[in-house]
Amino acid sequence: MKGQKKTKTVKTIRIDVDKCHGCRACELICSAFHAQPRYSSNNPARSRIRVIRDPLSDVYVPVYAGEYAAAECAGRDRYTIDGKEYEECAFCRASCPSRDVFKEPDSGLPLKCDMCESDPTLEEPMCVKWCIVDVLVYEEREVEVEDEEPELDEIEIGLRALANKHGLDRILDTVERMSKKG
Ligand code: SF4
Ligand code: SF4
Repeated sequence: MKGQKKTKTVKTIRIDVDKCHGCRACELICSAFHAQPRYSSNNPARSRIRVIRDPLSDVYVPVYAGEYAAAECAGRDRYTIDGKEYEECAFCRASCPSRDVFKEPDSGLPLKCDMCESDPTLEEPMCVKWCIVDVLVYEEREVEVEDEEPELDEIEIGLRALANKHGLDRILDTVERMSKKG
């Protein structure tokens, strides 16, 4: 019923940027965990966490993938924190048209962190477990929400991205053609 409040568990990863030394173990394990079959390959380009690196400036920023954004944003801010300069998109979690991160390299479909698919056998997300210097800390908190829209699943996010890129009619034609081929 509209207006009813319910409690939702929000899962997040707190990031202590200062501790990161850019080893990229988090990228490797995330891509391996999501490989088909699981652990059959690793490729940081398929990871749902990416480390923005600028070793000469001692800048390492782990960012895990958030929502898909169909359009580029207008903001182009640079950040200077404790004397270090961070690039415009360094802290952004979106898969968007501006850059290649958080896109499946073969298909171009957006990638989003799934907190390791809520696998009940995992005590904590894989990237958190593999970050031995505790940059990544898994946290859960309860929040009250009101009549929430259901979250889009990966297939729907992918289809929306394809429709934005190629047009919905072309996607529907292709699906129809594929279904006829069986
Ligand atoms: S595993 Fe930890 S230290 Fe290594 S790049 Fe990832 S967040 Fe940084
Ligand atoms: S929580 Fe899991 S899915 Fe998300 S970035 Fe880390 S390893 Fe990848």
